Amino acid sequence: MIRAFVVGHPIAHSRSPLIHGHWLAEHGIEGTYERVDVAPEAFPGFLAELRRNGFAGGNVTIPHKEAAFGLVESLTPRAEKIGAVNTLFFDGAERLCGDNTDAPGFIAHLDQSLGLDWTERGAGTALVLGAGGAARAIVVGLLERGLSRVWVANRTPARAEALVALDPARVEAVTWLDLPAAMARTGLLVNTTSLGMVGHPPLDLDLFDLADDAAVADIVYAPLETPLLAAARACGLRTVDGLGMLLHQAVPGFARWFRVTPRVTPELRARIVADLTA
Ligand code: NAP
Repeated sequence: MIRAFVVGHPIAHSRSPLIHGHWLAEHGIEGTYERVDVAPEAFPGFLAELRRNGFAGGNVTIPHKEAAFGLVESLTPRAEKIGAVNTLFFDGAERLCGDNTDAPGFIAHLDQSLGLDWTERGAGTALVLGAGGAARAIVVGLLERGLSRVWVANRTPARAEALVALDPARVEAVTWLDLPAAMARTGLLVNTTSLGMVGHPPLDLDLFDLADDAAVADIVYAPLETPLLAAARACGLRTVDGLGMLLHQAVPGFARWFRVTPRVTPELRARIVADLTA
């Protein structure tokens, strides 16, 4: 019996057990994926006891992603760049390793939704709104995908400027006032702020500056269609919702712990949508 987990505080809202439970059943694997609520002060002790408790690894969510980064014995190059860990596993030498799968999860969903040639539009550029933890992973993903320029705009400009260090030749911080000019040049607009999420104000943005063939992605998935995505759809732009990132970021962890690479299928997506809209 292989055991995996998602750890956070709080954790009751997490859809990860539903996603991994779906794959465990689909592949007939004898395993569990458990929800574990651990307060920040107890997190180091939880990690120290993982092997003794029979866990093969697990996912890490808010507020432990940065703490996990500092506590693991080894990091993947991507986690090192992002500065946060969302997936834990043991390597061949039984060392606790940290990975960050948010970046490949976001890119895999873009590739699936827009087709592999999406980077050819807008000269391979993206405009990222927000500069929090998720934005950092997304900027790393966009750079790895080969984009020539990534503009970042954030309410607190210093956080956007901090992301420039990821690749000063390709990442540029812009102010909210510069948005129309950046929007006119970009092939992809990505919202990584919490604006538009249930209980938060909507992201109020005029989309008319975007080119007709630009795409708009939102990583907020509750609601599934955010006001930003609804406005983009009304303008005839292609849209990419946040649920796909959540589904795709789960794939590498499952593959490491249960040794089967699962697929993100319409059935899985429908199951999570039903839960989100219940
Ligand atoms: P975070 O680190 O707290 O960052 C929040 C971001 O939102 C910051 O850039 C913040 O700007 C901005 N923001 C918050 N309130 C704002 C306001 N009123 N006006 C303008 N900007 C505002 O959070 P995170 O972990 O990056 O997550 C951000 C969102 O992404 C959340 O909604 C989360 O649910 C979603 N998410 C989705 C996935 C997925 O798999 N789809 C994965 C991770 C996160 P300041 O820097 O100025 O505070």
